[in-house]
Amino acid sequence: DPRLKAISEAIRVVPHFPKPGIMFQDITTLLLDPKAFKDTVDIFVDRYRDMGISVVAGVEARGFLFGPSIALAIGAKFVPLRKPRKLPGIGLLPRCAAGEVISESYVLEYGKDCLEMHVGAVQPGERALVIDDLVATGGTLSAAIRLLERAGAHVVECACVVGLREVKGQHGLNGKPLYILVEPR
Ligand code: IMP
Repeated sequence: DPRLKAISEAIRVVPHFPKPGIMFQDITTLLLDPKAFKDTVDIFVDRYRDMGISVVAGVEARGFLFGPSIALAIGAKFVPLRKPRKLPGIGLLPRCAAGEVISESYVLEYGKDCLEMHVGAVQPGERALVIDDLVATGGTLSAAIRLLERAGAHVVECACVVGLREVKGQHGLNGKPLYILVEPR
């Protein structure tokens, strides 16, 4: 696809961020390029339009930058998968009217993190797409898959703008397919 070269070139590489030795793939510069940004969304939309997907689940925070546009274009709902204690429904009244929240933790290179989802956001049997900006180990996407499956959804595929072709994550995604547009630069 000739559009992929420009998409890749629109992503800024920031050496030693957020830690020494890391080559951070910064998709904020992709958002500054309306043609490359639109091409990115269009490629996902063309792929997922006819797959019977009713849920696009975006991973906080950068999955929120791509997911809603894709969801609107394919006629699906958008479900935010949030970092801990952001969704109403947890705290003093965990099962209050605001909605029950389920959590899945995952291991990071240093430490742990967690994603949360409102249970009622997804109905059993719904077909879901998970979207994030980048996959590295696949730990984040795996937690997202577990959340959706606990709610009874079928995860059709995970999609990221950036990922390694030989991504270790693919083995860690419970056998779910992974679709990647470009490799890290
Ligand atoms: P994983 O769980 O190891 O696959 O890491 C993926 C998560 O880390 C995603 O939510 C990404 O947004 C974030 N991440 C890791 N490295 C980068 C990067 O270079 N650019 C942008 N996000 C990154």
